[in-house]
Amino acid sequence: TSAEAGVRARPDARALADRDRARLLHPFLPGEQHSRIVMVEGEGCRLRDAEGREYLDATAGMWLCQVGHGRREIAEAAAGQMRTLEYSTVFWDYTHDRAVELAERLVGIGSDDTRRVFFTSGGSEGVEIALRMARNVHHRRGEPDRTWILTRDSAYHGAGYASGELSDFPPYTTGFGPHPGQVHRLSAPYPFAAGEAPEKATDLLVHELESAIDRIGAHRIAALIGEPVLALGGMVAPPPDYWPRVEQVLRRHGILLILDEVVTAFGRVGHWYAADRIGVRPDLTVLSKGLTSGYFPLGAVVTSEDIARTLGGDGGFPVGHTYSGHPVGCAVALANLDIIEREGLLDAAERAGARLGEELRSLHDIPLVGGTRQYGLTAAVEIVRAPGSRDPLPEGTYAIADQIRDRTGVLVRGGPRALTVAPPLVLSDRETTEIVAAFGEVLSGLPVRS
Ligand code: PMP
Repeated sequence: TSAEAGVRARPDARALADRDRARLLHPFLPGEQHSRIVMVEGEGCRLRDAEGREYLDATAGMWLCQVGHGRREIAEAAAGQMRTLEYSTVFWDYTHDRAVELAERLVGIGSDDTRRVFFTSGGSEGVEIALRMARNVHHRRGEPDRTWILTRDSAYHGAGYASGELSDFPPYTTGFGPHPGQVHRLSAPYPFAAGEAPEKATDLLVHELESAIDRIGAHRIAALIGEPVLALGGMVAPPPDYWPRVEQVLRRHGILLILDEVVTAFGRVGHWYAADRIGVRPDLTVLSKGLTSGYFPLGAVVTSEDIARTLGGDGGFPVGHTYSGHPVGCAVALANLDIIEREGLLDAAERAGARLGEELRSLHDIPLVGGTRQYGLTAAVEIVRAPGSRDPLPEGTYAIADQIRDRTGVLVRGGPRALTVAPPLVLSDRETTEIVAAFGEVLSGLPVRS
């Protein structure tokens, strides 16, 4: 029967939406919004809902589905692992082959083969762990006052107590009582929003970083955390000299660099790790999302050998999660990385991205399009309040993203300023053109307000 094969009957969309409204509390759904989209299946870059409507998933789920939807090979890896060892821990002296193989693989695909891996269940957990590691490593090295964390505007680092505080979206972080504190926020490398030429931007940002370090005192700062490309902030890639110059300043002051590669790793910007593209050697790298392409929740923090040695000594690192190194998650990640490698998806992403960036230029004549940008297989369309302005729409672009979805079936993300896409790395030329056409159709009809 279909139930035995693990295939369920399609739900009745209307009835399911009613049951959903009665019992689910959704992340980020305004209370007054009543629409519900009941997704039932996916293949490649396409998703289908319970009413049979097809979508082109230009968001790769939550920017994570590198290999595309519906990969049987990954499902089989998960099922096979569940049949042999569905769960075991990596606490204390326990380990298992899947966790070891995946750790070896994660180190092997990077440019520094001395690193070590700590597993988590997702991105926010990874950020929390990286923060604790950064503070703890200074503590163990005799600098317990190094507790401040530097973060940046337009950042998103997660939904936890500390990771949320490092994020810059005020509705997500206000109204939750006292803030953890000891966080300093720097300007982001977002030249379009700042109205600057990129060359000038780096000088100003490096100067701002140095002044902040002077003011707070290097001896009180543990780390700077940053996304190589600001994802929720609008798929904003840094000017090429930004990260190397920031890294230089941090090194000079003994401040650790935490790179949040939750979105950018595993081919999103044409490399296994964005660090290898932006030219830095982070002390700690946070991974999740593309690690399993979303087929199973899993995250990781990759540390330098130095940090691993310090944390591994003297009683060890007394932090861990029940699901750290979950065997099914690791098996899924290994199958996912096999596909990325076998199908050459790093190069494919770079090629698809270049084509997408090129085609997006056709939108430049539309009055409210302030500009477009592309980096790897991420892209953004800046929407402005008035032609020629750099000011965003006061309400952001969320409703425009909904319109694009509802009118064209192409899923894009809205944001405070820009519309963004980060499709699966298997995006075809035809699908690229379809994404750009969807933007064109809806954006060219936007009313220009006086
Ligand atoms: N860091 C970045 C850059 C992210 O985009 C996200 C999630 N979108 C997170 C961290 C948090 O990851 P998670 O939602 O898996 O906790």
